[in-house]
Parts: sequence; C-alpha cells; structure tokens
Amino acid sequence: MVELRGLLQLCQNVVLEDGNDKVGWDLDDLGLTHPDFRLKWNNWVPGKVGILVWRVDLDRIPVIPLLAKRNVLVGFLDCPACGEADETTEHVFVSCGLAQAVWQAVSTWCKVPHIFAFSIRDILELYKFIKGSKRKAKFFHAVCMVSVWCLWKARNDIVFNGMAITVEIVVGNIKALGYLWVKNRSGGSSLSWEDWCKFKV
Ligand SMILES: [Zn+2]
Repeated sequence: MVELRGLLQLCQNVVLEDGNDKVGWDLDDLGLTHPDFRLKWNNWVPGKVGILVWRVDLDRIPVIPLLAKRNVLVGFLDCPACGEADETTEHVFVSCGLAQAVWQAVSTWCKVPHIFAFSIRDILELYKFIKGSKRKAKFFHAVCMVSVWCLWKARNDIVFNGMAITVEIVVGNIKALGYLWVKNRSGGSSLSWEDWCKFKV
C-alpha cells in the first residue's frame, strides 16, 4: 500500500495529452546538467594508455578499497605511496603527495602554469589552455596521459614489487616512455631527446 500510494503521488502531476507517443530526454532543453566532457583520445600514445586513462576517468581501476569491497583480502586500505589517506582513484592521480609532486614537475618541464587540479578531468582538460600551436597542446595532452600511466605503474611497483618510488623515478619514466611513444607517432622523428627534455616540441 505504501508503494501504491507513492506511485499515485508520483503520477499526480502527470498530464496525458492526445497525440502520438514519443521518446524524449528531459534534460535536452533544460540544461540542468552539462554532459559536455568527452574524453579526448590521443593517437600519439599507445591504445593501452588511452584505455587506462578512460578507466581512471570512470573510476574503474582496482584501487584497494574497491578490492576490499569485493571481498578481496588486502589487509589495508590506505595509499601505498603515502599512507596518509584511503586509496581512491582521485587520491592516486590527484591529491596524493606523490601525484602532486609529479604534476608540479610536469608543469615545470612543459613550461605551463603550475597545475592545481581537483580531479583527473581537470588535468585531462588542461591541454585546452596551452598557449601556442595545436601540435604543442597535443604533445602536452600526451604527456598528461603518459603521466597517468606512469603514476599507476609506480603504484603497482610499490604494491606488487615492494619498490621504493620517488618523484624523480616517476618523472624519469614519463620523459623516457613519452619520448619512446610520442616521437614516432607524432611524425616528429627528428625530435631530439635534448629538445624533448626541454619540451621544445
Ligand atoms: Zn597517497
């Protein structure tokens, strides 16, 4: 009865009109939400990097609390890199001290204003504000994607291989892997390692 009364209450304001049925989407004209974020693909990085970034954006990576929720015994919930907070996707890629230091190093390297992000989307959209050519923006976007890849690799190296990871190691990996992956895919086979390290792209 409670459910029936609830249902009748919901239907109270429904006005049926003559005419054919149609399929509609309430938010089309109202503009209540802004579903304008579309993950930007970047063909200068391998597909596996794009897929990881996509899963990170959807919060679909196996961070520890998520595993614990699925009864995978892990014994701890906190971030393996800093131990100062529960390991959430947002923490690993944005708010962890390691991630923040990595983004600062990336911004210094790529000569962009210091990155203050609240979400991974903030980081993935930064390329839009890069001054200069579209090509340069695409380089920077690729660097951000490779950085996500390297942060996740660093986290896995700590968890599964017991490695001690520093900011320098992660940034070194970003530069090396980025150069390997982006150089040829971008058609910039003349791009030297020295120029890459100065982000003269
Ligand atoms: Zn952390």
